[in-house]
Amino acid sequence: MIEDMLRTPSAVRDAERYTAHNYHPLPVVISSAEGAWLTDVDGRRYLDCLAGYSALNFGHRHPALIRAAHEQLDRLTLTSRAFIHDQFADFCRELAALCGKDLVLPMNTGAEAVETGIKVARKWGYQVKKVAAGQANIVVADGNFHGRTTTIVSFSTDADARADFGPYTPGFTVVPYGDLAALEAAIDENTVAVLLEPIQGEQGVVLPPEGYLPGVRRACTDRNVLFIADEIQSGLGRTGRTFACDHEGVVPDMYLLGKALGGGIVPVSAVAADADVLGVLRPGQHGSTFGGNPLACAVGTEVVRLLATGEFQRRSAELGERLRAGLEGLLGGGLVAVRVRGLWAGVDIDPALMTGRQACERLMDRGVLVKDTHGSTIRLAPPLVITDDEIDHAVAQLAAVLAG
Ligand SMILES: *Cc1c(COP(=O)(O)O)cnc(C)c1O
Repeated sequence: MIEDMLRTPSAVRDAERYTAHNYHPLPVVISSAEGAWLTDVDGRRYLDCLAGYSALNFGHRHPALIRAAHEQLDRLTLTSRAFIHDQFADFCRELAALCGKDLVLPMNTGAEAVETGIKVARKWGYQVKKVAAGQANIVVADGNFHGRTTTIVSFSTDADARADFGPYTPGFTVVPYGDLAALEAAIDENTVAVLLEPIQGEQGVVLPPEGYLPGVRRACTDRNVLFIADEIQSGLGRTGRTFACDHEGVVPDMYLLGKALGGGIVPVSAVAADADVLGVLRPGQHGSTFGGNPLACAVGTEVVRLLATGEFQRRSAELGERLRAGLEGLLGGGLVAVRVRGLWAGVDIDPALMTGRQACERLMDRGVLVKDTHGSTIRLAPPLVITDDEIDHAVAQLAAVLAG
């Protein structure tokens, strides 16, 4: 095709011209998608190996999710929480059951679920643990990613995410990720919660040492501290289990969920916990106009039903082993490290070869879309509907890029 006939260049220019530059997207303009495949405005096809940072675990436009959304669009879309609607109870009951918890509090974005978790933990601390007024602290990990609100960036250790957004919200103690002794030492009588990602996705799919999460669980139980697991990216089938915590048999006091919970259709997030924790909230103390709306609940219920079959978790575990084998085969051939759990991989490219960004651009030219994170690391998180052959294809394209 002749270059001036392509629609992509002008579409990229317009997107840059009329928006704040708070992202640095790859220069590709998508117009439709199905399953694991994307099509751009010029008709080129790409294998999606990012899946909306795990918001698209079930692929693009999964038929069951699209059907649920269409049916709900034709009946009722919004009531606000001032009234109860007929999709609400099913969603909350089925999600609570999936989590093994008594209660659910639905919100919209992941950051709102994190904010909700922080507020609930503080209130629990004052009302149940009897922490002195205004003294509650929460222990968090170095290298964390929990979202973009002013309170959440207050305890980020990423300079880009945090610098120049102060004054910062106090009440957080940062410890090195994976260091149990440091975490135990940071807990004091005013600690109400430990907030962690069971696997640090944005940091490059960083797995904590084996035994760390059970150790955190034990420390929290012993010291009367809530363990809050941010499973917004790691949860809902991504790692081959329903939750990343499941791999070590750990049950946190609070799950923070988002991303895939909305089926790639609407933003849906939630906090799940038992009644002795979430029960501390009374009317007027927390809320959201769109949280738990009928469309969100209809889609979210269908997401929970897809997960309740276990099929996606199984696919993720099995295909993840294929992905692992493929990527480990590239160690020494351009990759210096590979970390895999289920269909979730962080690979570190030899920085002498190219940056992560360059690798992503070259993969794009070969019809595979992924995104770099932190310098020379790229993260692969394909939709869980991807096939064996498509995984092999993605690995082959990465091999070709690394071979230059
Ligand atoms: C994406 C993410 C968030 C924030 O979710 P948003 O929907 O972008 O607000 C929080 N925690 C983790 C672990 C995430 O990956």
